[in-house]
Amino acid sequence: MGFFSVLGDMFRIFKHVFRQVFVRPFTSLYPFEDRYYPERTRGRHIHIREKCTACSQCVRACPVVAIRIDKEDKMYEKDAALYFDYSRCIFCGLCVEACRFDSLFHTPIVDLSEGERDDLLYGPDKIETLERDPLEWRGRRFR
Ligand code: SF4
Ligand code: SF4
Repeated sequence: MGFFSVLGDMFRIFKHVFRQVFVRPFTSLYPFEDRYYPERTRGRHIHIREKCTACSQCVRACPVVAIRIDKEDKMYEKDAALYFDYSRCIFCGLCVEACRFDSLFHTPIVDLSEGERDDLLYGPDKIETLERDPLEWRGRRFR
């Protein structure tokens, strides 16, 4: 291996190192910054209650019994309240496929971590809106 060959290799290495100093990092400051997820990501659901007919097809389709329906809780003529247990949900999408009334959708929101397990139960107050409370744990705020 000649002197100029070694010199060429070193030049290529330094060129690569120098270039990396100026490229934008691929990492993001998650969870302090939101990450991008594709539109079709199967994240947490949203329930459009105006369109719901309380047919229970979503409940029947769920293979892990993660959805409970309360037909007594009505806001419109035919709807019902849904409760999602995200400690059970495997985000398979079968409930959304089963809904024939465009009442249930996935959203690209996947960061559902909570400090307490009970907070993973999404009742009507949480499943009908995308607004979220800030997550605080051990004195730090994560979203
Ligand atoms: S995504 Fe799958 S596991 Fe989750 S609630 Fe719907 S059917 Fe059940
Ligand atoms: S969300 Fe859809 S499938 Fe579930 S009860 Fe309502 S209309 Fe039926």
